[in-house]
Amino acid sequence: MQTTAPLEQPILFLDFDGTVTGRDAVDAILETYADPRWVAVEEQWRAGCIGSRACLLAQMALVEASSAELDELLDSIEVDEGFASLLDTCAAGGIPVHIVSDGFDYCIRRIISRPRLGLGSRLEGVRVFASRLEPDGRRWRADFPHPRESCVHGCATCKPSVMAMLEREGRTSVFAGDGLSDRYAAAAADLVFAKGALAAHCRERGVWHVAYEGLAEVAAYLDEALRDGGLEAPREASRVNV
Ligand SMILES: [Mg+2]
Ligand SMILES: [Zn+2]
Repeated sequence: MQTTAPLEQPILFLDFDGTVTGRDAVDAILETYADPRWVAVEEQWRAGCIGSRACLLAQMALVEASSAELDELLDSIEVDEGFASLLDTCAAGGIPVHIVSDGFDYCIRRIISRPRLGLGSRLEGVRVFASRLEPDGRRWRADFPHPRESCVHGCATCKPSVMAMLEREGRTSVFAGDGLSDRYAAAAADLVFAKGALAAHCRERGVWHVAYEGLAEVAAYLDEALRDGGLEAPREASRVNV
């Protein structure tokens, strides 16, 4: 979506895996603790045969690990060093921040509450919209509350529908993500920050976006925009058209 007017009263939606974290937590779990048949399920998803909800449901049924094992793995996943400064920038600018993820609340909460990150009060007001994961012995139960009824895309968590629900007061939606499952969110946002597979998708489809590598760049962009008196859509020179 192309916007030329200044974007006022932004609200920021963040993908989690690969955006807030370096490594995808779900991939890490599958690679470490799932029966190898998870790969065939992934191929079906990549080919567009199944949505991410059906994909994750089938894949998580193949995982066998204790909570302690999963926690240890999650504790090894790095968080983008610009995440804290992005939260600070948004707090200072009155920009609400929410996490919208196809991944699991269990993993997200474990990772962002890691004491060493010191995120504590920075996370006040940050809501997490994600798939649900609960241990059942060494098995794991996945559940998908956003929305309860599967959407037309078959999303695990339907990012555009969460965004539509939260922008009700007319805020301008800003989305930052990295993956193929972010494409519906990117199509729905007023301003998109993209890296990785999402950036490639945006380039291919001509979706207007700001390319970034780390969240510090998103923070700097928003900080500058706020100091200039409003968030402006990217200028001609920063558009990426391939
Ligand atoms: Mg991602
Ligand atoms: Zn959807």
